[in-house]
Amino acid sequence: MSTTAQIGVTGLAVMGRNLARNFARNGYSVAVHNRTAAKTRSLVEDFGDEGTFVPAESAEEFVAALERPRRLVVMVKAGGPTDAVIDEFAPLLEEGDVIIDGGNAHFEDTRRREKALRERGLHFVGAGISGGEEGALHGPSIMPGGPPEAYEALRPLLESIAAKAPDGVPCTTHIGPDGAGHFVKMVHNGIEYADMQLIGEAYELLRDVGGYAPAEIAGIFRRWNEGRLDSYLIEITAEVLSHTDAETGKPFVDVVLDRAEQKGTGRWTVQTALDLGVPVSGIAEAVFARSLSGHAELREAGAGLPGPNAPALDAADAEQFADQVEQALYASKLVSYAQGWNMIQKASEEYDWDIAPGAVAAIWRAGCIIRAAFLDRVRNAFAADPGLPTLLADAEFAKEIGEAQSAWRSAVATATHRGVAVPGFAAALSYYDALRAGRLPAALTQAQRDYFGAHTYRRTDREGVFHTLWGEDR
Ligand code: NAP
Repeated sequence: MSTTAQIGVTGLAVMGRNLARNFARNGYSVAVHNRTAAKTRSLVEDFGDEGTFVPAESAEEFVAALERPRRLVVMVKAGGPTDAVIDEFAPLLEEGDVIIDGGNAHFEDTRRREKALRERGLHFVGAGISGGEEGALHGPSIMPGGPPEAYEALRPLLESIAAKAPDGVPCTTHIGPDGAGHFVKMVHNGIEYADMQLIGEAYELLRDVGGYAPAEIAGIFRRWNEGRLDSYLIEITAEVLSHTDAETGKPFVDVVLDRAEQKGTGRWTVQTALDLGVPVSGIAEAVFARSLSGHAELREAGAGLPGPNAPALDAADAEQFADQVEQALYASKLVSYAQGWNMIQKASEEYDWDIAPGAVAAIWRAGCIIRAAFLDRVRNAFAADPGLPTLLADAEFAKEIGEAQSAWRSAVATATHRGVAVPGFAAALSYYDALRAGRLPAALTQAQRDYFGAHTYRRTDREGVFHTLWGEDR
């Protein structure tokens, strides 16, 4: 057998298979391995002509096929299976070899694995990969975290297979040490949840209040996709909404059961945000909205509850309303991105990752699910001020959100009057208003806490910590 494979991929389900093909198509020789050997054989049979594959049936054969330092990509189910595969391969590797976990690992697992392997002289890179199976084949956005020297050993390969942004820059960069890459991938997915929820709310408003049919809404989304909302998710939403179910002839969206599922990265984002103390209300509302959609019994019990009864708008008003919805969608999107970046910045401080916020925006411009023209502007905002405390403070974004706010408020008010749930739009608007407010009712919260629990409070007029003897003061 040839011993010259430049990279190895173990785990040849949809993602690993396509990633291996992507390496091969870019001229790299790729050792391929899967627990069930039939998958390895079928990859070579089906796609052997795309490049150089070195099939391996055993772990030993696989490791022996790799040039040194070995670069070995693990693309198996996240969690226990990833540990099992690492445990199988680590004893066969030598100092300086690099294991890359391209699965959707939790960043804390990545931190643990990196530390354990570092102690054995091995490099471990936790690489978040976004773009689904198509991305894996044609160019994903890759978010690697781990030792910088290990990233350098991978850089040319990752840059070749990664998506290219419109300016030709590859969508990969060294995010930071240990779990930084998987953390950023997790937040990417959290933002993806928020984006999808906001798009869903826009659709619902256009349909229920604007009175538009799905095919008409597809047209509106296509128009929006030519402006500042230009993004993959808006583009595919238009495609989905213009699709007709072949069996029934109905709009496709009407035959899909309205219970959204989730694999868990959105939930991880919210759980982690709670631990870090970062308010990511847009992502949280998106996770809760999916959760609520899945509670059949709860929804059945609530189905008869009273609500307002208003007819759809007439055509002229509907057109004006659609414009308000576009502004509400854009402003809410800005808020959820601002929250996502807050989370990345907070974690970077907490874990000493030194993540460059603009670099994250740069590598999300292509390949990943949230790719959007807008991310170029996020990159520019952080390039102008890497310490920007919130994206909303960037002069351009502040101006835009200021111009959108009146329409945004009208859209949320209309939704409320008409009884359409818009948790994403409303939470984003409340976050915006709380940021703007000079003073918050948190003062009252502190006073209450002091009253019932002697938790103390600080004063506005002098330094120190105070407690009021409430019983005696009354
Ligand atoms: P998957 O369904 O998550 O996992 C299947 C693969 O894992 C198969 O190769 C399977 O081998 C292997 N495997 C499972 N348990 C194993 C064990 N105990 N020991 C060895 N191998 C084991 O595959 P996927 O959808 O291609 O995803 C791969 C990784 O990428 C996952 O971590 C996933 O979260 C992540 N990811 C997926 C997507 C996506 O769109 N699908 C996008 C981004 C990231 P056998 O064939 O022998 O069963």
